[in-house]
Amino acid sequence: MLSKRKNNFNNLSEEYLKDKSEVTFYNLPKKVEFCKTCTMSNQKPIQTIEHTQNLSENITTSDKKVTLDFKDGICYACRHRNKKKDIDWKKKEFEFRKLLDKYRSRNGSYDIVCPGSGGKDSFKVAHELKYKYGMNPITCTFAPCIYTDTGKNNLINWINTGFSNYNFTMDGKIHRLFTRLCIDNLLHPFQTWIMGQKAFPNKFAKMMKIPLVIYGENPREYDQGTKSAFYDENVIRELHTREKNDELFIAGIPLEKLKKDLGLSNAEVEPYIPMTTEDYDKEGIKCITFSYYHDWHQQGNYYYVRDNSEDFKLSEQRSAGTYSRYSSLDDKIDDLYYYTTFVKFGIGRAQYDACHEVRAGDINIEEAKALIKKYTGEYPTRFMKDICKWLSIKKDAFKNLDKFLDQPEFTEEYFADLCETFKSPHLFKKTNEKKLQIRYLP
Ligand SMILES: [Zn+2]
Repeated sequence: MLSKRKNNFNNLSEEYLKDKSEVTFYNLPKKVEFCKTCTMSNQKPIQTIEHTQNLSENITTSDKKVTLDFKDGICYACRHRNKKKDIDWKKKEFEFRKLLDKYRSRNGSYDIVCPGSGGKDSFKVAHELKYKYGMNPITCTFAPCIYTDTGKNNLINWINTGFSNYNFTMDGKIHRLFTRLCIDNLLHPFQTWIMGQKAFPNKFAKMMKIPLVIYGENPREYDQGTKSAFYDENVIRELHTREKNDELFIAGIPLEKLKKDLGLSNAEVEPYIPMTTEDYDKEGIKCITFSYYHDWHQQGNYYYVRDNSEDFKLSEQRSAGTYSRYSSLDDKIDDLYYYTTFVKFGIGRAQYDACHEVRAGDINIEEAKALIKKYTGEYPTRFMKDICKWLSIKKDAFKNLDKFLDQPEFTEEYFADLCETFKSPHLFKKTNEKKLQIRYLP
């Protein structure tokens, strides 16, 4: 609740005035460090298991993050990238073909599920599987919150290139409410979408009786992962499944409480609930990543889709908070999401893009620093009107709504107030500007 957050924020007002503060939110490291080779920050959290994220205790300390591992000033992603230089990709591709042969259909029926949106990465994976490796993929999509024109166009472009697609769209009334709660409680506009997007392909694979699911990139390319996750061909299982007895949370609130208080049915919350590991094993589902077997290059994937389809479109203007036009183009909420990573961790979209391109050898570190300085913290103006409308909940739409939101209407002023309360004193300081300002950039 914003009112509660404001109290906490006001209690810390002294900290924002100091030259340096040691008060951190989300368990972030007190000392800010930037990777010597790519400039990524040590404040970057690793992939989170969203469905067990509990916010029952103190509102700024219970959202506990594990952050990117640094050694001798070099981040995990760069160290991992260096290790990959020695990989014999021909040998890896041979292993990949062997694995595909195990699952290859003998009568030409569907034999692989390819989750994605038809963006450059999922396009390339499905396209190569069909036209290079001779497989029979069916694609599936967990629809964005608010489609952009570019996103819609690129999904159709994918389909028109020779793919059947199963597009699952959530109940909009519930999805808007849950996304709104995630913003108010965690400043995480994508939590609900991530939960659905990770849970859905397994359920679809079960429904279609196709056990092999192939994703594009493994998040382990960029962070060290949770304890149990080591880097192999598989996706990080605990992000996509749940243990039978796990208590589930959405927006940090127990799911059972949300159901009871707001009067929701099982059907209404089903899309967010992952398959149990038991069920996953019983069905023999195997989820792997294409990037484990191939020298993955995002910009290269863009050239691939451009050359192998008729109507792929880049965003008409550069995305908010960055200089690029070719990644994360499907959802209007994207802009808002990257703005919130800046607010919580001091890392905006330009930094994600630039670090990535430095590691891929597309730009150098000085260019990266200049781009980060220029775009970090840019306010996501372009879709804000649509986003505010989508996130505004009618007062009488749910019973007991006032238990969860102190203002059902979502406005830019409300969002601005909320954002300030999520800024950690060790990353932001009070100056003459209206908003708190970032202390450190690479
Ligand atoms: Zn690095």
